Amino acid sequence: MNEQQTKSPQLAGSQRFIDRLAEQQLTLTREQTTTLQINTGLLCDLCCRHCHLEAGPQRSELMSRATMEQIIAHARQVHYPTIDITGGAPELVPDLAYLIERLAPLTERLMLRTNLTALHRSDNKDLIGLFQRHKVVLVASFPATNAAQLEAQRGVGVMDSSLQMLKRLNAAGYGIAGSGLQLDLVASPSGAFLPSGQEQAEKKFKRDLARKWGLEFNQLYIFANMPLGRFLHWLQKSDNLQSYMEKLTAGFNPCTVDGLMCRTLLSVNWDGYLYDCDFNLAAGFPLAGVTTHISELNDYPEKGMAIAVGEHCYACTAGSGFT
Ligand code: SF4
Ligand code: SF4
Repeated sequence: MNEQQTKSPQLAGSQRFIDRLAEQQLTLTREQTTTLQINTGLLCDLCCRHCHLEAGPQRSELMSRATMEQIIAHARQVHYPTIDITGGAPELVPDLAYLIERLAPLTERLMLRTNLTALHRSDNKDLIGLFQRHKVVLVASFPATNAAQLEAQRGVGVMDSSLQMLKRLNAAGYGIAGSGLQLDLVASPSGAFLPSGQEQAEKKFKRDLARKWGLEFNQLYIFANMPLGRFLHWLQKSDNLQSYMEKLTAGFNPCTVDGLMCRTLLSVNWDGYLYDCDFNLAAGFPLAGVTTHISELNDYPEKGMAIAVGEHCYACTAGSGFT
């Protein structure tokens, strides 16, 4: 085990994730890779309590133009139906427009994860116009419709700037039926507990956003928080780690394993190194356990390759899962 692997929680007395899979006669191996996820860096205007990447304003890791070129060259060579740009806050990356303009013609679905506030602060770049032109699917974090709950996770004043940005996105057609501009929201619980059902939560979010602020969106995704990074530190400090991991392990649902996103996703970090998913990136588990750079990859990652797993993987298989 290398030093970085300790970033995934280690708990005495709990069954290891890999042993749980074996006990259920399940394997976690790669299928045809259909999504390339690009983490543009750890710089973020927020410093959320649940951030598995420990991103924030004090971080300086940002994707360089040279790494972008290597990713673009790879995406020209190997076709990914979905390309998903994430961070940190991608809006803070100086060459984001360059990356979007070159990747958009290479994929059917170009997605960008936004925390809304960074988009709000990047007014001068006309990013909304850029997203509209390339029909970029926006996936916005919006953890709760209750201001106190949202701001406990994300910081004071974040509710107001998030709502202002959602209003502007709706005005630009995002989230409005028939516009062809998709706006999805992502939520997660504020503490050491598992999320409620997705369908019910989506209905509540749609009702609350429409009634309180006249806002619309397409779909809501709701996930358990990952016991990694800042959320892991919070669990440790608040003495909640043991009970949270017990909830995750007790909630293990073997039916989720077939649909786990790591089977079909390749994650590339801001420095060009590859991972099976963004959580393994945070945990420091390289792609299939072998350090590999995007410049060394001339094809899709091989089908049948074992996926690197750790105890944090329980957050993907609890309840209805993280697929
Ligand atoms: S959770 Fe997202 S918005 Fe919050 S600090 Fe991390 S990267 Fe930034
Ligand atoms: S964290 Fe989730 S997506 Fe990543 S390897 Fe583990 S099970 Fe797969």
